[in-house]
Amino acid sequence: MEILRKQFLRHVGQTSPSPLMIEVARAEGIYFYAPDGRRYVDLISGVSVSNVGHGNREVVEAVCAQARDYMHVMVYGEMVERPQVNYAAALAELLPAPLESVYFVNSGAEAVEGALKLAKRYTHRTEIVSFLNAYHGSTHGAMSVMGGEDFVGAYRPLLPDTRKLRYNAFEDLAQITERTACVLVEPVQGESGVRPPVPGFLEALRARCSEVGALLIFDEIQTGFGRTGEMFALSKYGVVPDILCLAKALGGGMPLGAFVSSGEIMAGLQSDPPLGHITTFGGHPVCCAAGLAALNYIRKHDLARLAEPKGRLFEELLADHPAVCEIRRSGLLLAVELGSSERLYRAMELLREAGYLSDWFLFCDTAFRISPPLTITEEQVRACCAEIRAGVLDKL
Ligand code: PLP
Repeated sequence: MEILRKQFLRHVGQTSPSPLMIEVARAEGIYFYAPDGRRYVDLISGVSVSNVGHGNREVVEAVCAQARDYMHVMVYGEMVERPQVNYAAALAELLPAPLESVYFVNSGAEAVEGALKLAKRYTHRTEIVSFLNAYHGSTHGAMSVMGGEDFVGAYRPLLPDTRKLRYNAFEDLAQITERTACVLVEPVQGESGVRPPVPGFLEALRARCSEVGALLIFDEIQTGFGRTGEMFALSKYGVVPDILCLAKALGGGMPLGAFVSSGEIMAGLQSDPPLGHITTFGGHPVCCAAGLAALNYIRKHDLARLAEPKGRLFEELLADHPAVCEIRRSGLLLAVELGSSERLYRAMELLREAGYLSDWFLFCDTAFRISPPLTITEEQVRACCAEIRAGVLDKL
C-alpha cells in the first residue's frame, strides 16, 4: 500500500471500520479528483455541507480576504467582529421573528449542546424529549438525545431525564408535559434514511410544546440552506421553533455552527451565572465570511427553490427502475431504497467503480444517499441518472 494511505491508517485516528480511502487532489463543482486524475461525482456534499459546490470562487475569495484582514483574535463574544455581525444580521433578516439572536459555535453537535443548555436555563426544567432514529451529533449531550441505541449504549450513563418519542406518531405527543424543557426534532429526519414529516405532525408538535410551555428546537443542521427546496425547512412546513440549530452548509465549507433564538430566550445564558456557553473558536471570522458568501450565492442563484425540481428529476429518472424499492425525498436530499443491506453494499461498490461517491445513512443501511451540491445542473442530473441506471442499478 502506498505510503500516504499507510500513514493515514496509522496516524490519523480511525473510527470507520471501512474508510473510503480515496485520496482527494482537488474538488470543483460537483466533482472530486484523485491524484491520478480520476473523477468522482459527489453525491454526498460532505453530508449536506458543500451546497454551493466545491471550490466556489466567491467563497474562496471571501476566505482569502478575511484571512488577510484577521483570523482568530479573541474568544467568542468579546470583540466586535464584522464578519460575525454581518452574518448574524443576514440570518436574522432571513428567519421568521422572533429568531434574531445567533450564537455561533464550531459544529452541529456544539449547536445542539448550546440549544439544550439554553432550553434548560430558560425553562428551569430538565426533561429533554427527542425522537427515535434522530441524529444530533456525537458529543455526550448530543448522544443523549440520539435515537439509535446501537451507537450510544457503550457510552452510558449519558444525560439523565431524556425521553424518546416515535417520529410522526401523533399519539406520542401527549408524553410532552409541563416537566419538559424542550423537544428537539429534525424537521426532516436525515440519518434515518430521509423521512419527511407526515402532514400536520410538526404543527401538532408546535401546538403541544406551546400548550405545556416546552421549547421547540429544530435541528436544521442537515436540512438548512436550501437542501429541502426552501432556504430552511421551517418555511416549508410553516412552523417556527423557539430555537434553531444550524451547521454544515452554514459555513460554506468551513467549520461553523449556530443556535438561534429570540433575544429574550438567548438572554438566559448571560446572567446568573453569566457565560452560559463558552467557545474559543465559535464564529471564527474566516468561517463567518465564508458562510455569508455562500448564503449570498444561494440567494443570487436561487439554489434553494431550484433544489426541488432538481430533486424531483432525480426521483423521476430513477424511481421506475426495478432494483429501486422506493425513493424518499425532500428537495435535493434523496434516499434510494434498495430493500436489503447486501444489495446496498454491492451498490456502493458499483457506484464507486462508476465514479460516484455516495454512502448509506447512519440508521438505514438499505438505501443510498443522493445529496449533491445544489449547483448541479439539470444536464448533470440526467447524466448521473443514466450512469447510475446502467452502471449500478442494472447490475444489482
Ligand atoms: N444534526 C444533524 C441532523 C446532523 O445530520 C448532524 C451531522 O451529520 C449533526 C447534527 C452533527 O453535526 P456535526 O457533525 O457538525 O457535529
